[in-house]
Amino acid sequence: MNQAGDRVETTVPGAQTTADVAVVGAGPAGLYAAYCAGFRGLSSVVVDALAEPGGQIAALYPEKRIYDVAGHPAVRGRDLVDALVAQAAPFDPHYLLGRTAASLTPDGEAGWLLGLEDGGRVRARAVVIAAGLGRSVPRTLPCLHPYQGRGVAHHVPRPAEHEGRDVVIVGGGDSAVDWALALAPVARSVTVVHRRSAFRAHEHSVKQMYAAGVRVLTDAQVTACTGGKHLEEIRVQTGGKELTLPAQSLVAALGFITSLGPIAEWGLEVENRRITVDRAMRTNLPRVYAVGDICAYDGRVPLISVGFGEAATAVNHAAVDVRPGSRLIPEHSTDRDTALLS
Ligand SMILES: Cc1cc2nc3c(=O)[nH]c(=O)nc-3n(C[C@H](O)[C@H](O)[C@H](O)COP(=O)(O)OP(=O)(O)OC[C@H]3O[C@@H](n4cnc5c(N)ncnc54)[C@H](O)[C@@H]3O)c2cc1C
Repeated sequence: MNQAGDRVETTVPGAQTTADVAVVGAGPAGLYAAYCAGFRGLSSVVVDALAEPGGQIAALYPEKRIYDVAGHPAVRGRDLVDALVAQAAPFDPHYLLGRTAASLTPDGEAGWLLGLEDGGRVRARAVVIAAGLGRSVPRTLPCLHPYQGRGVAHHVPRPAEHEGRDVVIVGGGDSAVDWALALAPVARSVTVVHRRSAFRAHEHSVKQMYAAGVRVLTDAQVTACTGGKHLEEIRVQTGGKELTLPAQSLVAALGFITSLGPIAEWGLEVENRRITVDRAMRTNLPRVYAVGDICAYDGRVPLISVGFGEAATAVNHAAVDVRPGSRLIPEHSTDRDTALLS
């Protein structure tokens, strides 16, 4: 777990949790929704299928700098996630990480019952779906299966874990090249194996990769993995010959197959794998909102900053649902001396 994850609380699988607002997805939009809920005096539960918060940022580009988040001239992905977790922390959101939200059923007057894949349940008066790309399943190669989780991975959340290892990265897109660059300073060796002759990544990054001393094998394919309990070597077919390379880590950067996953069965109005919302981020289900990349309306731009605005809109409307008669925007954050409600 990263620095943000270290501050995250989890509970045993199968338990029931109750909150004013259930947030599905701990990407930037979901984390900011948890802050907004706390600011409105609402308790929140944040559920995410991944083991750590941060969504696409944590999974795909934790080490990259982001330049277009308002107020941050440049911020490393991991640092933005840490800041979002820290911003919400005074309100104690209850994080259920490594848990997939599987079902959503009405719970009488109380609101909604969110069923988790591990049997756990979350009772909430309102739900904010911030599920980004939905379920994403990494593409892989059959020969990698035996060592999945035992040397073979699809993300590099903490490059330092690969210190002193021989790392093989399979793929030819931005992620493959970015991870090669992130790992080159820490790993004993980094080899990129790409089945085509040209990379699909940014030209500048590809040049940096060659300059960083990464070994690049193009028109090449991994054909086998060998080792004991843990991956030790791989075989690569390239130019009519077979090479054996030492590899204690292999990162399969072959992309992801995304789908809405279980959310598709929740009775929501969906178009092109996105949940339709109105200007208040309401879905067709009462007290259920959608924000961030999972939601759709005419003209939406899929950016982190846009998701933040949507989270604020959704939660303030949800606050009125949960506490009828309360105002949409009762006060500004500057009206308080501290982040916490007094
Ligand atoms: C390489 C790359 C670079 C990028 N650079 C930028 C940039 O510079 N600036 C910018 O603004 N944007 C950038 N983006 C886009 C940005 O990352 C996304 O717009 C943003 O992450 C969307 O945030 P989100 O919170 O809506 O969803 P996500 O970050 O996708 O998070 C959604 C979370 O929901 C979880 N989830 C889904 N379904 C379930 C379920 N059923 N149960 C439990 N959890 C579930 C997922 O596990 C995930 O963690 C980039 C994207 C990529 C891939």
